[in-house]
Amino acid sequence: MKSRREILRLKALQDKIVSEGKVLSEDVLKVDSFLNHQIDPKLMQEIGKEFADRYKDAGLTKILTIESSGIAPAVMAGLILGIPVVFARKRKSVTLTDNFYSADVYSFTKKVSNTISVSKDYLNNDDVVLIIDDFLANGEAAKGLLDIVKQSGATTSGIGIVIEKGFQPGGQLLREQGYRVDSLAIVSSLENGKVQFA
Ligand code: 5GP
Repeated sequence: MKSRREILRLKALQDKIVSEGKVLSEDVLKVDSFLNHQIDPKLMQEIGKEFADRYKDAGLTKILTIESSGIAPAVMAGLILGIPVVFARKRKSVTLTDNFYSADVYSFTKKVSNTISVSKDYLNNDDVVLIIDDFLANGEAAKGLLDIVKQSGATTSGIGIVIEKGFQPGGQLLREQGYRVDSLAIVSSLENGKVQFA
């Protein structure tokens, strides 16, 4: 059963999506005012607390996300759980030599493939990882992060998503593969310019 605190947090997120989200097309939702450009720290804190509550007994040692929009919710969860947050980089950095894991990720919003990478210094086979991202659409970003966790020999405990678009296949694919997916808001449709929740 959902706690009162959880219900309030999920409602705050849904209300924010409805009041500030812009439906750009039948499959793209813009939430630049609180998640993807400007960030609402208070809402991110509540999101972090919700992920932390759900995974407090999972023995997590790291949170893994992807730059840039996954970082805010991931850091809030990491702060509460008291564990480090690692973000995969989308561009190769000059400071990232050959000591990294990498995976190819096709970007849903930018329609290009990026090689994402994580230094071997920050993920290893002792780690128990929660993957966090802002959106789940086709599951490409999550698959890339899962691939990186696999390369490191670490264990994935689950995948925490702020907004899942339930009408796209990523969530079902990941759940069918046996992954625990915790999406705080599940949008069931963006038809006619309106956000509907599952
Ligand atoms: P996926 O990899 O699951 O196909 O797509 C998820 C990634 O694409 C997320 O990291 C997110 O940045 C971006 N994304 C996918 N759909 C949307 C959307 O409707 N709105 C926004 N703002 N980003 C999205």
